[in-house]
Amino acid sequence: MRDPASFRPPSGEVLARFAAIVGERHMLTDEADMAPFLREWRDRYVGRAAAVLRPGSEEEVAALLKVAHEADVAIVPQGGNTGLVGGQIPFETGAEVVLSLGRMNRILDVDVENDAMTLQAGVVLADAQRAAADHGRLFPLSLAAEGSCQIGGNLATNAGGLNVIAYGTARAQCLALRAVLADGRIIGSLSGLRKDNTGYDLRDVMIGSEGTLGIITAAVMRLHPAVTDRAVAFAGMETPGEAVSLLAFFRERLTCSQLTAFELMSHLGLSFAVTHLGLREPFDAPTPWYVLVELSSRGAPGEVLAEMEHILGQAFEAGLIADAALAQSEAQAQAFWRLRDGMSEAQKHEGGSIKNDIAVPVSRIPEFIEQAGAAVLRLVPGARPVPFGHVGDGNLHYNISQPPDMDRDAFLAKWDDVVAAVNDVVLALGGSISAEHGIGRMKRHWLKKVKSPTEIALMRQLKQTFDPRGILNPGKLIP
Ligand SMILES: Cc1cc2nc3c(=O)[nH]c(=O)nc-3n(C[C@H](O)[C@H](O)[C@H](O)COP(=O)(O)OP(=O)(O)OC[C@H]3O[C@@H](n4cnc5c(N)ncnc54)[C@H](O)[C@@H]3O)c2cc1C
Repeated sequence: MRDPASFRPPSGEVLARFAAIVGERHMLTDEADMAPFLREWRDRYVGRAAAVLRPGSEEEVAALLKVAHEADVAIVPQGGNTGLVGGQIPFETGAEVVLSLGRMNRILDVDVENDAMTLQAGVVLADAQRAAADHGRLFPLSLAAEGSCQIGGNLATNAGGLNVIAYGTARAQCLALRAVLADGRIIGSLSGLRKDNTGYDLRDVMIGSEGTLGIITAAVMRLHPAVTDRAVAFAGMETPGEAVSLLAFFRERLTCSQLTAFELMSHLGLSFAVTHLGLREPFDAPTPWYVLVELSSRGAPGEVLAEMEHILGQAFEAGLIADAALAQSEAQAQAFWRLRDGMSEAQKHEGGSIKNDIAVPVSRIPEFIEQAGAAVLRLVPGARPVPFGHVGDGNLHYNISQPPDMDRDAFLAKWDDVVAAVNDVVLALGGSISAEHGIGRMKRHWLKKVKSPTEIALMRQLKQTFDPRGILNPGKLIP
């Protein structure tokens, strides 16, 4: 695959052709103007670019890529710039051009009878949710970055998030999409069909391709009936094993509502959120582990709260949980969610943290937490693992805070060793080293360990077919 260092910056003549397509004011070349597009959320990747292009239509994207293809210019597609593996950030060479979809932010259609919504790729996820709600429908994709991330980015990364347990990932929400290929040709449709068995489904190839095969310009996303009632509770327990048992306990007993979130947290993580974000502990007496449970229904108001209360009562009697608190108001439900959503932010105040986004079979989560914890402590005595996340999907954000008395840089210098130790445990348990954030730049070197040589070869052939000159997001995803 093409090395990002093999590209030269676009010439003045090529830049002028780009500007003629998007308009002078939508091509940024000034360092200060480009800066927000060149730095990611955690500051782990900071790149340079020859320009940032901000097209306003699919036609403009197609025209830009045609020029880039002819002139051999590397293009880095960017949505809301919330990706956590560096896929949307150019390398440090300064030769690449960022193509930002942010101006393509129109909701093109909401078709209630087809339960579908057609969106340009740059629509911010929270705006898509609001548009669905305005039509009495639910668009269930939901993640902590939803105020910034975009539909195109969600599809390019096959985003997961909070409601996967009930509705599946971004892939499951997508009925159709359109994309521009590296040479400017356009593929796909916005048909919104639920059945279309006409051969290879290129939509599925594009989803999760992280900007390496094409630029997604628009999509048709599934809608669902609106939720009329929900209940949120915190349950406290002694072990992650009890949390996993509680999940099965709920599933077996639910009759009138649906499990829409089941999020695990340790007391250490929760105490970070309490200390640094000014939040309140859910119980007077802490427990080592917590689960945030959310149930949703379309039934009569109050039913779901009663069901939550009933099942938690049974779990208490069965000795599965030590305590539980039910949100009695929307404000309290939001306060519970804030504890969960604030996990990453709170950890920033505890010094350096090494991040892992892993999945194992749900039943193996307790083993994973125990074995990964031991492996990390062998490498860095005093390190503080803070596992949290979508335990209902077998997906944990296994973040490790530095020992309080250790130098931040010395701790972060151990990033690769710590990640390798955690990933070894993941792979031994039959898991995935990237549950929802993707591969990007950060995990590229791991792909050879998790895909067979045949699979890697096929991925390379696919890349070669879609992008023969290798101009789309070079140095990302494919080893
Ligand atoms: C606080 C926080 C919480 C998060 N929680 C979750 C979570 O729960 N679940 C989860 O899955 N992720 C989560 N993420 C990660 C991130 O939000 C998702 O990966 C999201 O889908 C990225 O969307 P984006 O628009 O920001 O894409 P970007 O970050 O801009 O790009 C991500 C990748 O997609 C490519 N890309 C972007 N747009 C396009 C396009 N139109 N066409 C082709 N390629 C494109 C980029 O080149 C890059 O490789 C979280 C991030 C943050 C900061």
